[in-house]
Amino acid sequence: MILLLKAFICIAIALSLASSGCSEGEASQNSPENVPDYVIAIHGGAGTLSRERMTGEQETEYRDKLDEALSAGEEILKAGGSSLQAIQAAIMVMEDSHLFNAGKGAVFTNQKRVELDASIMDGRTLNAGAIAGVTDIKNPILGAIAVMENSPHVMMAGGGASQFAREQDLEMVENSYFHTQRRLDAVIRQIEQDKNGTVGAVALDMEGNLAAGTSTGGMSNKKYGRIGDSPIIGAGNYASNQTCAVSATGHGEYFIRWVVAYDISALMEYRGLTLEEASNEVINNKLVEAGATGGVVAVDRHGNVAMPFNTTGMYRGYVKSTGEKEIAIFAD
Ligand code: ASP
Repeated sequence: MILLLKAFICIAIALSLASSGCSEGEASQNSPENVPDYVIAIHGGAGTLSRERMTGEQETEYRDKLDEALSAGEEILKAGGSSLQAIQAAIMVMEDSHLFNAGKGAVFTNQKRVELDASIMDGRTLNAGAIAGVTDIKNPILGAIAVMENSPHVMMAGGGASQFAREQDLEMVENSYFHTQRRLDAVIRQIEQDKNGTVGAVALDMEGNLAAGTSTGGMSNKKYGRIGDSPIIGAGNYASNQTCAVSATGHGEYFIRWVVAYDISALMEYRGLTLEEASNEVINNKLVEAGATGGVVAVDRHGNVAMPFNTTGMYRGYVKSTGEKEIAIFAD
């Protein structure tokens, strides 16, 4: 009798572990039955990041800021807020930090000024908004959201985007607000490690809606008027409730032509690949073959997270309602 009872208890524990997903690792797949209530994943750029060239203090500063951005997004999701609100909050924390190549701390063009790109996409409606080449919107992600929500357009650029932002009562700043000595040194001396830092976030909310957002200063030393992949829907940013939400970082000239974010979604939709398989195929096969560097953070409608990159590092992190959490910088 005691033996029978013991066997029964063991089976019950095994069954509850399997259904709660307690033993799930990053690569395992959530099924429709064990979708977490919410998920948010963020990146702060991919590139040549090496442990040797980063002090312990700098590493802690980056990790703390990534944690702050994740927490800002998670708080909203936990309270039942939308994935769109969550990614906006997470991205604004990183735009306001001098550490990343977005908003304050963005890279310089070859004319020594800052030109910013950003985009946002709602996976429920496929609505999207983007701004490109702006020099004076304090939080570019808010410009992208305003275009999505309050204009009939998807993308606005340059002076027109600024005028629209002003009419929308967004906070405007002088270009010098974005300037940092570190990025100036990077453009003058072409310092590899200090070129990175595009930011992005993807999230799944309690309603099952996906959203993706990306914000950047682009590529250090870029020519006047150059626009990268970050504000281009399908290239640097994409979200559809049918498949996944993706935010990219990397060499924009490739990400545009390889239509990276949409390609990941399309591989899931048309070839039935998992999020992990689709994002790996694009980042670690197609882009590597093309000679392109970069990575993505992505979440699917079942709450699976993938964060592949083909560089030595990518500032990244995610948190799920289950308590599962990771913040990392280097490849190893
Ligand atoms: N993808 C960005 C661009 O090409 C740069 C980056 O993510 O590092 O503008």
